[in-house]
Amino acid sequence: SGPLLTVENLTKHYPLGAGFLKKPFSVVKAVEDVSFSVEAGETLCIVGESGCGKSTVARLLMRLVEPTGGRVLIDGTDIADLKKQALRAFRRRMQMVFQDPYSSLNPRLTAGQIITEPVENFERLSRKPRNALAADLLQKVGMSPEMMHRLPSELSGGQRQRLGIARALSLKPALIIADEAVSALDVSVQAQILNLLVDLQQQMGIAFVFISHDLGVVEHIAHRVAVMYLGRIVELAPSEALFAKPVHPYTEALIAAAPVPDPTRVRLEAPVEGEAPSPINPPSGCAFHPRCPLAVERCRIDVPPLVPMADGRVVACHVRAPAREIPVQPDVAAN
Ligand code: SF4
Ligand code: MG
Repeated sequence: SGPLLTVENLTKHYPLGAGFLKKPFSVVKAVEDVSFSVEAGETLCIVGESGCGKSTVARLLMRLVEPTGGRVLIDGTDIADLKKQALRAFRRRMQMVFQDPYSSLNPRLTAGQIITEPVENFERLSRKPRNALAADLLQKVGMSPEMMHRLPSELSGGQRQRLGIARALSLKPALIIADEAVSALDVSVQAQILNLLVDLQQQMGIAFVFISHDLGVVEHIAHRVAVMYLGRIVELAPSEALFAKPVHPYTEALIAAAPVPDPTRVRLEAPVEGEAPSPINPPSGCAFHPRCPLAVERCRIDVPPLVPMADGRVVACHVRAPAREIPVQPDVAAN
């Protein structure tokens, strides 16, 4: 069987200032030609600075926004082709955990109501099975069942994020998309939540798309890492290979800027030389060229393609991963 999640050439452009800027063709290219796949039980981390498009990728996967182009397939089925009923069923397979456990939980509901609500969108539960489900989910995320009667305001930040995870688990998803899921938490609480995610993955075989600006976090949980820069993936590699030997100059700069092996949070707001770029007016060619120490003439002109390397990674860089001409084989071309 193929991958659980397949993302093909995903693209999202937003019109810029439509209505008051007299530039109807001005667009923000938030996500440009992004492709990757995720196997069942795997953790793919998407890492990059703020504004690189990683949160837009999360929203596109959840179909919270419509793509400008490209496809998202779950178990080989294009989610855009699904009719209402089938889409609801597919949505159960994919759940999201958000960054801010404060604003994403309804303050008027108890913990028990919050985590059983997704299930009750599909089937009415009476009090006993609802409480049993809530107790089970709370235990799965390391909380005591009595907590089901508490309001979010009566819980700590870490407990609230555990609730967010319990809520995501309630529909037994195959895939959880976590967007900066531990960024708002203290370092010690971050470690607890990351350990919880790893445990849940081992017990339940859940796959994660884990989105973070924080390489310290990513190194702890990733099986593979996709590095994004201004809407594009610039390197995608097995985690160990990426941290041992980054190939793209941007990946290299990110890792050099992170005090590895410090497991505590590493802010990547501006770790790389030069100004963090804006997706509104991205540089031509390789968007990284104004900050790149290796840039050559060609980098200003041509967008580098993602080139497969011998160790299974893909890298988009004219200098570090030059595209080779693939010779046309006459017998193949004849078909
Ligand atoms: Fe640097 Fe050029 Fe490679 Fe871009 S393509 S990362 S500018 S060397
Ligand atoms: Mg974001």
